[in-house]
Amino acid sequence: MSRYSKARFLRSAGSCAAFGDDSGREVAIAGRSNSGKSSALNAIVRQRNLARTSATPGRTQAVNLFELTPGRRLADLPGYGHARVPRSVQEAWRRLMDDYFSGRGSLVGLLLVVDARRGFQESDETMLSFAAARGLVSQVLLSKADKLGRAEAKQTLASARAALGARAGAQLFSAESGEGVEAAQRWIEATLAGHVKTPGDP
Ligand code: GDP
Repeated sequence: MSRYSKARFLRSAGSCAAFGDDSGREVAIAGRSNSGKSSALNAIVRQRNLARTSATPGRTQAVNLFELTPGRRLADLPGYGHARVPRSVQEAWRRLMDDYFSGRGSLVGLLLVVDARRGFQESDETMLSFAAARGLVSQVLLSKADKLGRAEAKQTLASARAALGARAGAQLFSAESGEGVEAAQRWIEATLAGHVKTPGDP
């Protein structure tokens, strides 16, 4: 039986008031539209359709909360960075993220999905700064790693680690091949258990 076979959808929240029970610990998963975030979430919980892969990028402006085990949650943050999203939607996204990152006491870590072939964009840096402002630990999943050759994957990982420094860990990830899924699960487990230290902690 998979580690998260009892994972279940809790709620979709469009505002601070709707986030619900803030006890226990929560890890957020974020990424640009089309980064492979939904596929990553489904691979991590090993449920095919827990997070619906998005046909219309950038539409959902809600935080989707999933319970992994009692008191341990994953929060799927709305995708960002899609060029065709109107300014009003971008502003609503920003407000929701401000609410979430400043108000969610149970939030302990950020899993950031970045398309390995595209690399970090400004909006990814924004997410990392939200996390840093809260003192959260962050881990970057360099997604769709199956699309890279071995040498290219190695180089991509080394560059990402160099660019991130102490701000976040980084790993290769592929929902397609399964590469890095267990490592991501271990990071989530350790973070939810309070075992991953903020950079700079002793
Ligand atoms: P989201 O918008 O960030 O939630 O991204 P999705 O999970 O919906 O994926 C966006 C696109 O990338 C879809 O066409 C997926 O099939 C594809 N994709 C996602 N993960 C992988 C992966 O690990 N490998 C490959 N080759 N394609 C992927």
